[in-house]
Amino acid sequence: MDESVSSVLIVGAGPVGAVCALALQQQGVTSHILEAQPEDARADTRTLALSHGSRLILDRLGVWQKLEEVTPITRIHISQRGALGVARLSAEEVDVPALGYVLPYATLTAALKRALADADIAVDYGMAVARIESDATCATLHTTEGRAFTTPMAVVADGGRSESAPVPKYERDYDQMAVVCEVQTELPHANQAFERFTPEGPAALLPKGDRYALVWTASNTDAQRITALTDDEFLAALYRHFGGRQGRFLQASPRKTFPLKLAYTGSEAADRVVRIGNAAQTLHPVAGQGFNIGLRDAWELASLCGDTAPEQIGSAAMLAAYARGRRLDVLGGVGFTDFLVRVFSNDIVPLRHARGLGLLALEVFPPLKAFVARRMIFGARG
Ligand SMILES: Cc1cc2nc3c(=O)[nH]c(=O)nc-3n(C[C@H](O)[C@H](O)[C@H](O)COP(=O)(O)OP(=O)(O)OC[C@H]3O[C@@H](n4cnc5c(N)ncnc54)[C@H](O)[C@@H]3O)c2cc1C
Repeated sequence: MDESVSSVLIVGAGPVGAVCALALQQQGVTSHILEAQPEDARADTRTLALSHGSRLILDRLGVWQKLEEVTPITRIHISQRGALGVARLSAEEVDVPALGYVLPYATLTAALKRALADADIAVDYGMAVARIESDATCATLHTTEGRAFTTPMAVVADGGRSESAPVPKYERDYDQMAVVCEVQTELPHANQAFERFTPEGPAALLPKGDRYALVWTASNTDAQRITALTDDEFLAALYRHFGGRQGRFLQASPRKTFPLKLAYTGSEAADRVVRIGNAAQTLHPVAGQGFNIGLRDAWELASLCGDTAPEQIGSAAMLAAYARGRRLDVLGGVGFTDFLVRVFSNDIVPLRHARGLGLLALEVFPPLKAFVARRMIFGARG
């Protein structure tokens, strides 16, 4: 069966696809989402760190006000293990209510799902797109069940994990994994996050409810070893790794791991097809850039559609303008993240000193501090 629709078709109702649909509606552009998972699927337990800029996007869509279980980060403490140099960022210094917010992925996706239903945006759950064909006039999405939908513009927001995902233009496997879980510390978090760089990789503690969400980066072998430790062994190992700034680690939830890589595919896919969010770029979680860049992709694409004559939506000229407009922010995030991982994840002595000086400069030079904080909050703008 072939169905021709005049609306934009979005592949994936994850946070990026859902935000894109809601933002398009605010621009007066109708869209329709095809989502592989069934409507009642339970989202996984991952934790998201949202920047203040992402909060503003969700605010404008009326979703932020309905979110529960959000923990603000008002201070960030950055340090490196075994060397000098500490930098502290605070929300007051950059004049924002919080530097970021921590919340469960499941909370955000559930709120977005409700917002899509309230806005009467069509979502076909349990419908996976197997492949997309396109030419200069339209794109046709073929589902695994043999249905086909034709649209003037297909937006791929499938997280980049579909079998049909193209080979990235640039890829780096860090040979690292993130070990994630929740931990309770002796001292309350007081809304302070920690980013600690170690030669084995960065480790972050993000305030979440009355606990911390831990993202502990380690080599693939170490990550498997860490995950297999008993709770007591794990808490002791974390204390040795992280230090005692929050006192002892008292409790940990079950550990999970996920592989870390950089994959930059870009938004340019084919005629009438654009990729956004993790489908366009997957980043290492250090500095929490990837997800926030994805939300900005969705917002900027919708804004551009609002500024484009309806018959030009999805045209080569519009998609090229979108790619041009996103390049600085996306490549800035890719470069910044990759730089942090590679410069901080080693024990080369001159680099260790240079890093200490860098952190010191960040601590004592307010314009640099404001620049880094705004970069993390709003991304790079042209
Ligand atoms: C295991 C894991 C842990 C992570 N942990 C963190 C973290 O701690 N902090 C953080 O900031 N970020 C984390 N991230 C990254 C973060 O989850 C992503 O940045 C974010 O989810 C990207 O949103 P998205 O909407 O682009 O993709 P996704 O959230 O992946 O959503 C994609 C959607 O598309 C659907 N879909 C996929 N294929 C198809 C298809 N063929 N047809 C139709 N629908 C399809 C999926 O079912 C899904 O609903 C993690 C990522 C992973 C994989």
